[in-house]
Amino acid sequence: MHDMSIAELALGLRAKTFSSRELTEHFLARIGRFNPDLNALITVTGESALVSADAADKQLKNGLAHDLCGIPLLHKDIFCTRGTRTSCASKMLHNFIPPYDATVVENLAQTGMVMLGKTNMDEFAMGSSNETSFYGAVKNPWDTAKVPGGSSGGSAAAVAARLSPAATATDTGGSIRQPAALCGVSGIKPTYGRVSRWGMIAFASSLDQGGPIAKTAQDCALLLGAMAGFDSRDSTSVDRPVPNYHASLNDSIQGLKIGIPREYFSSGLDGRVAKAVQDSLTILRELGAELVDISLPNSHLSVPAYYVIAPAEASANLARFDGVRYGYRCENPKDLEDLYCRSRSEGFGEEVKRRILIGTYCLSAGYYDAYYRKAQQARALIRQDFTQAFDKVDVVMGPTCPTPAFRFGAKGDDPVAMYLEDIYTIATNLAGLPGMSIPCGLVDGTPVGLQLIGNYFAEAQMLNVAHQLQQVTPWHALQPEGLI
Ligand code: GLN
Repeated sequence: MHDMSIAELALGLRAKTFSSRELTEHFLARIGRFNPDLNALITVTGESALVSADAADKQLKNGLAHDLCGIPLLHKDIFCTRGTRTSCASKMLHNFIPPYDATVVENLAQTGMVMLGKTNMDEFAMGSSNETSFYGAVKNPWDTAKVPGGSSGGSAAAVAARLSPAATATDTGGSIRQPAALCGVSGIKPTYGRVSRWGMIAFASSLDQGGPIAKTAQDCALLLGAMAGFDSRDSTSVDRPVPNYHASLNDSIQGLKIGIPREYFSSGLDGRVAKAVQDSLTILRELGAELVDISLPNSHLSVPAYYVIAPAEASANLARFDGVRYGYRCENPKDLEDLYCRSRSEGFGEEVKRRILIGTYCLSAGYYDAYYRKAQQARALIRQDFTQAFDKVDVVMGPTCPTPAFRFGAKGDDPVAMYLEDIYTIATNLAGLPGMSIPCGLVDGTPVGLQLIGNYFAEAQMLNVAHQLQQVTPWHALQPEGLI
């Protein structure tokens, strides 16, 4: 059952080949077997999963169930779940049990999906390797000596290891796409505003966006359809109808114009990753697409602009964790100042503190113009690059990451090397555009990803292209050995 796609599982449930309870028990058993080593989940909610599964079985019996009804799912531990700890992989929130569900959690629960638990991640979604989690690193199921990517590494590793058919994730600078690439699964970061951020713990509010990770583009289409939609509780949520992403998956891609940015194939890119990406592009050309050479001349500004804007917003967002209202509080504070100071020093990890310091510095009087305003100007140029590109092409494609998965500790003492992991993904967040990663090959036995970037609200088209490619390539169906 764990090899089946969501679409196949949905058919199996309707044909009564298995029940949602059986499916849920099957995945819970796999979690029990493989998670102690992989560490992809922080919390397993086995008991409530079985209750939801029984409810889903009833709904399925009545015949009025949603396509996703009865399908198991994991939520990244950044989405608030009523009654279930939501830690953001931080000591700061180790004891936090939200009194409400995030909109995404609510939307997916309404379809009848069954939550199996919460996935591990980089602390407060800051990182590209999952090494910053308070609960320990997640291992890449393809090679357990290597990182799964981050920050949604738990979600990507869990889907890759077939511990769940689907998982939610978030992407501020690449955190859905980069781990999806490194673990050989499919993931989509929608247009900013497409999916509600309400109840999703904020990292950098102008960049954060939730989305699904699953085995295939088709599964992502089903999940995104249920996650997306207007939410009056999120002031940046866009009031625009959600298309039926599934309906257009089989549209022809004849005549589709694919822009290939020169800047994404420069010297920092591993040659073997480049080759895998090129091979996919060749197949797309054979399917009728036209490859167009384009330039995104301000690409080199994305990482520097991001590492001013994201920490600046993070420093403001994380100010709420003060040891007073909720979350970690230090022992025996001497006075209020000591309470703030020690609760934050003891509750946050190194990377989170680094970002708060950078952000506070960039926003301080005298530096605001030099850093924050400049970064916003760079952001406008990056957005303009894409607007011009989309005058000429329908979709932009290139690698998701510059290299395949690396070993634990390989970039540990060099934050800048780690930050460069997202060199091809960050621009999309700065521009607010949708981005997607699908597997496109293996390098040294671990997967690498092809990135698709679409125009605003063009998720349906990206999913269509990805699905067409997955109809004629084997990469999404491969799975790590030893996890049968
Ligand atoms: N790796 C990037 C960072 O550390 C992006 C993280 C994310 O998308 N949440 O900020």
